Amino acid sequence: MDDLVVGAGILGLTHAYHLARKGRRVTVVERGRKAMGASCRNFGMVWPIGQPTGEMENMAVASRGHWLAVVREAGLWHDTTGSLHLAYHPDEAAVLEEYQSQTAANSPDVASMRRILTPAEIGRRVPRVHTQGLECGLWSETEIGVDPRQVIWELPAWLNRTYGVEFRFGATALPLANGRWRVGPGESIKPGHVWICSGEDFETLYPEIFAASGLIKCKLQMMRATALTAGERIGPMLAAGLTLGHYKSFAHCPSLAAMRRRFAQEMPEYELYGIHVLVSQQGTGEITIGDSHEYDDAIEPYDKTRIDDLILRYLATFLKTNDLRIHTHWNGTYAKHPLKPYFIESPEPNVTIVNGPGGAGMTLSFGLSEKTTASV
Ligand SMILES: Cc1cc2nc3c(=O)[nH]c(=O)nc-3n(C[C@H](O)[C@H](O)[C@H](O)COP(=O)(O)OP(=O)(O)OC[C@H]3O[C@@H](n4cnc5c(N)ncnc54)[C@H](O)[C@@H]3O)c2cc1C
Repeated sequence: MDDLVVGAGILGLTHAYHLARKGRRVTVVERGRKAMGASCRNFGMVWPIGQPTGEMENMAVASRGHWLAVVREAGLWHDTTGSLHLAYHPDEAAVLEEYQSQTAANSPDVASMRRILTPAEIGRRVPRVHTQGLECGLWSETEIGVDPRQVIWELPAWLNRTYGVEFRFGATALPLANGRWRVGPGESIKPGHVWICSGEDFETLYPEIFAASGLIKCKLQMMRATALTAGERIGPMLAAGLTLGHYKSFAHCPSLAAMRRRFAQEMPEYELYGIHVLVSQQGTGEITIGDSHEYDDAIEPYDKTRIDDLILRYLATFLKTNDLRIHTHWNGTYAKHPLKPYFIESPEPNVTIVNGPGGAGMTLSFGLSEKTTASV
């Protein structure tokens, strides 16, 4: 027995992938009958454009490469649709232009896959988008859409077939005496190394480490709409002005502060609930819409219809939504570090905790796991 991976969310699965490709024997233990954490509740956006230039952008781009290789090999739905950030106010347009010229200076290869589009170009490429009042948009080729439910629930069988990774579902992993770990009722193993990818569960394994880690929890509300008629595809995944205040990639744009002040004055409830609005379309044609951000003590088990109303109201400012029918509401919670892009800790020599990729866990997963497993 070489490796035990705790958790079959995206971080657990990508750790299993990299470890198994090194020829190691890997067992993944997942508490649920299938993984039902943040990894199956998200948009399925592999989103390098959200990462700041440097280490994190490089990790996201490397991760994207692994995503493409894996979903192609495993026959999983994906769309290299790219993304489009829409600007309806001069300060939003200024942020996009500043961002694009910073990227051109710092990462010319990445910048060559991005371009500012005029309203007329956007109208032709993405007819679902409102062009009235549109200043411009930033088109980017680097984003990929995957189906998070399909990926999380079907990758285990592919990892098993392709690399012999063993899975124990419906089993909580717990440390026992003498280096042994529980992997199921009455079943234990003695792993060489344990990778703890337990997501928002800070309470079961190494609770003291989590308590001291600074990690916080963040709850998001999401919705899904039925497929558009006649098989209509929107095109790129969409974001608008509010999103520019959310991702660190835009943090150095000089016009950002004024834009944020305007949003805080004009739309205080959006700030209160941490709402920005993203749209992805699945292979089924269904449309995933979100989201909000409520942290730690503000998290309640109940969803707020007010948040969903605010999300849909903002959505209608940039997308033609008359025929959109919401059929599902849900929430998800992820772990995030307020200062670091992820959290890695070794509480014992043969145990590594990998957690806290926040809202970029799908994006970073393969790249982050490649980094943590590099030395084995
Ligand atoms: C609504 C929402 C939208 C998002 N959208 C995006 C997006 O579009 N793009 C993006 O890049 N990121 C997105 N994210 C972030 C991303 O989903 C997360 O960062 C990522 O899924 C975290 O993966 P994980 O493997 O760490 O955790 P999880 O997916 O929560 O997996 C942890 C697993 O560990 C299991 N587990 C815990 N303890 C034990 C134990 N002791 N024994 C056995 N099993 C255990 C749990 O049951 C769980 O299945 C979004 C998140 C949310 C909530």
